[in-house]
Amino acid sequence: VGGTFLKGAAVDAAGEVGARLHEPVARDGARDLLGQLADAVRRLEGDRPAVGVGIGLPGIVERDTGRLRAAPNVPALDGLLVGEEVARRTGRPCVIENDANAAALAEAWRGAGRGGRYVLVVTVGTGIGGGLVFNGRVWRGHSGYAGEIGHVQAQPEGEPCGCGSRGCVETVAGIGGWVRRARARSESRPSILRGREFDPEVIVAAAREGDAVALEVVDEAAAALGVGIAAALQLFNLDRVVIGGGIAAAGAFLLDRVAAQTQARVFPHVFADCTFAAATLGNEAGVVGAARVAMLAFSGAAEPAPVA
Ligand SMILES: [Zn+2]
Repeated sequence: VGGTFLKGAAVDAAGEVGARLHEPVARDGARDLLGQLADAVRRLEGDRPAVGVGIGLPGIVERDTGRLRAAPNVPALDGLLVGEEVARRTGRPCVIENDANAAALAEAWRGAGRGGRYVLVVTVGTGIGGGLVFNGRVWRGHSGYAGEIGHVQAQPEGEPCGCGSRGCVETVAGIGGWVRRARARSESRPSILRGREFDPEVIVAAAREGDAVALEVVDEAAAALGVGIAAALQLFNLDRVVIGGGIAAAGAFLLDRVAAQTQARVFPHVFADCTFAAATLGNEAGVVGAARVAMLAFSGAAEPAPVA
């Protein structure tokens, strides 16, 4: 469930996606949205009842109660026991998960993190999402906030961030940061970006052509991501880092820069033991990950070894 669209899929135990749906989110309050979710489950099931339902949401899931918190993009559901509500309406067991965690779980299970044991997935969009997956399970931390790499501080004197801090990775490497810097600098310096529609794809393309302003914007984003990832690497000794979101399409051009910026900030062995990869599941990560959360919760799927 996003702020604008509801995406759903029927996913089998091997991660294969069957029926799908994609529609605008009902906007007339909690009753409507919960009704839409229940209806979506029935449509996706068809004549094959689901073993369980997993829902990814843009908020924090309170660990002990399963209550959704800090979800400004789906205000109707903020504070509710969304899993219980959908379970009551559908007769299926239901579990909810933070959307970035769900996407990370999917990449670790069936995407670019496959085979990794200590995986970080960073999703670069308007915000910077992060999820840690250790031994096939999301690492949520004490109260569900673990993995918020977008709010590691990259520039102590940087721009104010929505979280109350400043210079967070997200303020520099989120799409807003790319656009803000590209616009300001291409006004005062020669750049093929001047007068263009700014989006990261255009900026990366200009950087590839050697445009100095664009290259600077890309390198600053890579440096900020490097600061955040280095912190995670040094703390957790990860074996896989996956970069996703629309910007993953920039491929090696960005990935190599992020890896180099990370390398400059961690023990050589810690870097050498870790593989960097671009996400492979794209838009599918959210629904596949949500389904995987339900599988782990309800289907008795092979229990991964405990975290060592
Ligand atoms: Zn922040």
